Amino acid sequence: MPTEPAIREAMRLIWRNLPEAPSTFSACSRGCGQGGRGGGPCLNCAQADLARLTNDFYAGQYVAAVLNLRRIERELIAFSSTTP
Ligand SMILES: [Zn+2]
Repeated sequence: MPTEPAIREAMRLIWRNLPEAPSTFSACSRGCGQGGRGGGPCLNCAQADLARLTNDFYAGQYVAAVLNLRRIERELIAFSSTTP
């Protein structure tokens, strides 16, 4: 049975790899060949962690939800103007 901290850590790594603002990515710390934010585990590895701890369905749903929220945030900010 996975622990709550382990599940939360996988969730945190997913958010970390989908930042609101531009960020720095470099080689995934697990050597999978993808880019991970700040050189940590990448999104694919974080999703795999969450899938292993829970299941593929919820891991996929969680990543899709964070991606959707980030898209909505960009669209909301697009209503703004930089001129007063
Ligand atoms: Zn990786």
